[in-house]
Amino acid sequence: MSEFWPAPTGTDRAAYADAEVRPFWLAALPPRDPAPPVSGTVHTELCIVGGGFTGLWAALHAKADDPDREVTVLEADTVGFGASGRNGGFVVSSLTHGIGNGLARFGPEMPALERLGAENFAGLEADVARHGIDCRLELTGDLVAILEPYQEAWVEDEVEVLRRFGHDVVVLDGPAVRAEVDSPTYRAGIWDRTGTGLLDPGRLADGLRAAAERLGVRIFEGTPAEALEPRGEGVDVRTPHGRVRARRVLLATSAFPPLLRAIRRYVVPVYDYALVTEPLSAEQRAAIGWRRRQGLSDGANQFHYYRLTHDDRILYGGYDAVYRYGGPVRSALDDDDRTFARLSAHFFHTFPQLRGLHFAYRWGGAIDTSSRFSVFFGTAHAGRVAYAVGYTGLGVGATRFGARVALDLLDGRETEATRLRYVRRRPVPFPPEPLRYGVVRLTQNRMAAADRNAGRRGVWLRALDALGLGFDS
Ligand SMILES: Cc1cc2nc3c(=O)[nH]c(=O)nc-3n(C[C@H](O)[C@H](O)[C@H](O)COP(=O)(O)OP(=O)(O)OC[C@H]3O[C@@H](n4cnc5c(N)ncnc54)[C@H](O)[C@@H]3O)c2cc1C
Repeated sequence: MSEFWPAPTGTDRAAYADAEVRPFWLAALPPRDPAPPVSGTVHTELCIVGGGFTGLWAALHAKADDPDREVTVLEADTVGFGASGRNGGFVVSSLTHGIGNGLARFGPEMPALERLGAENFAGLEADVARHGIDCRLELTGDLVAILEPYQEAWVEDEVEVLRRFGHDVVVLDGPAVRAEVDSPTYRAGIWDRTGTGLLDPGRLADGLRAAAERLGVRIFEGTPAEALEPRGEGVDVRTPHGRVRARRVLLATSAFPPLLRAIRRYVVPVYDYALVTEPLSAEQRAAIGWRRRQGLSDGANQFHYYRLTHDDRILYGGYDAVYRYGGPVRSALDDDDRTFARLSAHFFHTFPQLRGLHFAYRWGGAIDTSSRFSVFFGTAHAGRVAYAVGYTGLGVGATRFGARVALDLLDGRETEATRLRYVRRRPVPFPPEPLRYGVVRLTQNRMAAADRNAGRRGVWLRALDALGLGFDS
């Protein structure tokens, strides 16, 4: 742990002891009866596996392309159960996990990727308006708080790159950043006001579900797809109580155990955790400023992200990125005391004036981490199956684009995007276990060491940088 952050105390632990282990966003949705599972044989033209943002956007795009197309979505649990219902709700236009990462990996294609990202962001805004989805989109920008002296050296480069790609950026010195959001830990800030905002991801997932159903998409919940079986010109998707006989299949299963071995090579499930406070009182609210409600993060390798909700709670997450041997994904892992203790301690270090506030919700979720930090694509079974996975913790906006591209690959449509190396190239695979665990943990350990050591990257991280490889959540 960085020396900067205090170790958790009993008071920090008590602050979340009674928190419900459930994503705040899903708890806040009005209750509804889940859609029934598949039973018997269902015939469809397009079967989408996974009812998160990727799957739901793919369903909407498919119907927009051809309203008569039969589209079916299979969701193992309920829509929004995965990362889409449990994220921070930061929505950004970047398709490459930031411009810096994009330049390192997709250099010559960055002008096109930034433009496609901006178009996708505008398309998301237009779609939520068109479908009447009240997901509380707030275009308040993204504020990165600089906490330690060594991070100040990054500001100039970061701002130069953002401005080179046309972003409206405000650089804030210590007093100016603390006038925006009052934390004694802040030394400076970078406020990016282009292509960044916040939304309520539970409402977005549920709104996309309702919009898809209005367009005639059939959604089955409680239906895990167990296997893909090529059959004639199509593919059968096997489920516990029946099968879906489809001409095409789009896989949108993120960090969950994949139905294709190919995906397993490129994706590791890394758990990320978040806390949400009770609503702040008027005095507590006044004590932190934050009148412009920016999305906030802090600027180290291991960073926190935090934001206000519509009812003035604070969501505070990130820092730890937990990879477990073998990459399990299951509900029991939504609770992780060690990580919540750290988050609570870091929260009160950031906002000491909020001591006494309690957390009402805590949860975790699996992030589909790829070595290039951004979505990748592929097809299988002679082009009858396509997938878009690997968003690495920045998919609220990018999933709309990922869904579009996967659908174009499935339908054999050539577009500007499908011609890009960004779409055609796969990431570098992770090694199999037990080496996978060793490599991931070593990389995390070296990143934490870099944070302790004034940001200096040691031999291992520099070797990965030179190979264009990385690890993030
Ligand atoms: C804690 C956390 C915080 C995050 N914060 C942010 C953020 O602030 N901003 C941002 O941009 N991104 C964030 N992300 C990442 C973002 O949430 C994801 O990139 C995005 O939601 C991925 O959407 P998806 O549809 O691809 O995957 P998911 O939402 O995970 O959907 C996959 C769905 O497929 C279902 N499924 C899996 N296997 C099967 C099967 N075999 N059969 C049927 N159904 C199946 C699952 O149940 C799940 O519902 C965060 C992620 C986490 C976990």
